[in-house]
Amino acid sequence: MKTSIEMGNAGIQNAAKLLLSGEVVAFPTETVYGLGANIGNPLAIQKIFTVKGRPSDNPLIVHIAEFSQLSLLTPRISPRVKLLAKLFWPGPLTLVVSKRKEISSLLSAGLQTVAVRMPSHPLARKLLYACNVPLAAPSANSFGKPSPTTASHVYEDLHGKIPLILDGGPCKFGIESTILDMTTSPPTLLRPGGVSLEQLEKHLGRVTLHPVVKDPKVKQVFAKAPGMKYRHYAPRANVNVLLTRKELETVAVAEGKNKTTHFLVLKKPLTGVVNQTVYTCASHLAHDLFAAFRRLDAKNTTQIIVQAPSESHVGRGVRNRLLKAATHINDKN
Ligand code: AMP
Ligand code: MG
Repeated sequence: MKTSIEMGNAGIQNAAKLLLSGEVVAFPTETVYGLGANIGNPLAIQKIFTVKGRPSDNPLIVHIAEFSQLSLLTPRISPRVKLLAKLFWPGPLTLVVSKRKEISSLLSAGLQTVAVRMPSHPLARKLLYACNVPLAAPSANSFGKPSPTTASHVYEDLHGKIPLILDGGPCKFGIESTILDMTTSPPTLLRPGGVSLEQLEKHLGRVTLHPVVKDPKVKQVFAKAPGMKYRHYAPRANVNVLLTRKELETVAVAEGKNKTTHFLVLKKPLTGVVNQTVYTCASHLAHDLFAAFRRLDAKNTTQIIVQAPSESHVGRGVRNRLLKAATHINDKN
């Protein structure tokens, strides 16, 4: 299958036509690129899993254009869900709500709940309007690879497997949406992302952190993650996450001259390091993180050493992705 990369209104019309005929199509969102399918077509949903090589017990997020489409997916809309939608949609917040029986359980991996979000990217919105149906869409990467934040990342992973990639330039946030389970009381944070825990707590009061979201300490990570568990969103290079600047400076002395090592650091460059990228803040690092992983793999970097941002606001989401990508986490504090 030939994969075309298209832009603008003509691209949107072609993408909508393909989606409505049961194909899967990649499109940009403000978080990462998504691989969309019509939620009313189980064969199309199945294609998402096949194309990505994604295990079928991993549920998908449904993308909607308008608040009114939420009632197609869930039988009850609570006042808290209404409030969050009003505050944060369109935007990088996914809400898990109870699922209507009619909605394919393929999409929810057999769960009685469904995850929904309204993206804010103008192309995603236009595409959803052109289709006039919600689209199920996980990230448009091969399973296990870093999420794609440009159309060419999607092409790298999925060319020959999908007919069209809609190109909307680089994604604004660069990491996936925040996921909040609204079926528990208080709501449970399942994945930190573009909308911060602090923003949510301001409006909801207490939010429970799911155990997978709690920042693991070094000993626990080593104990629980021998081998593959944390390598899911990872580049080929080893990722080492350092939690303090002091630690980073020590490692810079030992590893800074190593040509196949690359440092990703915040605010100030490290002295004596040949390969480093300096980010102004955690959002800047979030924006480039997955792209950097792919760039460095292409340069055959063998080791990526990353300064973890502090665990607040968007830093929480970045740390979560780093810990998933890491083979070595060092917390001397
Ligand atoms: P992505 O991996 O970016 O495609 O996002 C999909 C993720 O959303 C899954 O890996 C789950 O973690 C989460 N998700 C989707 N549906 C549900 C659900 N019904 N309940 C809990 N989490 C969900
Ligand atoms: Mg994904």
